[in-house]
Amino acid sequence: MSILPIRVLGDPVLREETKPVESFTPELRQLIDDMFETMNAAHGVGLAAPQVGRSERLTVLDVHGERHVLVNPEIVEREGTLRWEEGCLSIPELYGEITRSARVVVEALDGAGKPVRVEGTELLGVCLQHEIDHLHGKLFIDHLSFLKRQKLLAEWETEKPHYPGLIRIVVAGTAEDDAHDDEKL
Ligand SMILES: [Zn+2]
Repeated sequence: MSILPIRVLGDPVLREETKPVESFTPELRQLIDDMFETMNAAHGVGLAAPQVGRSERLTVLDVHGERHVLVNPEIVEREGTLRWEEGCLSIPELYGEITRSARVVVEALDGAGKPVRVEGTELLGVCLQHEIDHLHGKLFIDHLSFLKRQKLLAEWETEKPHYPGLIRIVVAGTAEDDAHDDEKL
């Protein structure tokens, strides 16, 4: 397994539509393993393929030890709304409170191509919505009001120079634990 470089805000790959996965190859399995390792090293709870520069419609989640591999996921039910403070492994250090559905049901395939159905509320529900957004080129900042988004983008201008080439290298065991560990999606 290896830790992959994470693409950060400004890299066009984060705005691209992904392509549905059609075959479950050893290469896909390898990508899934590498994405789990990368997400864990970065103390994230979710990671989508575009965040590591890939175009597969694939995301992995690890919410309080509950792990999911979701290939070609689709939200099939939504209910209610909630406010949640979100961050993103591709927009380090910046957080924003946005409105999501309070409960979602997702249908997908797992890493072996078997159909799965995942229901999520609170952090799992937020994470499912955040990661599926990534698979369609959408970021949490798109859900902020215009003024809040402008403020966050201005803050990003001071963070961005820490990531030459818009690449974030995570080294296992060095990501510091902090109060935001549950919000890095
Ligand atoms: Zn994210």
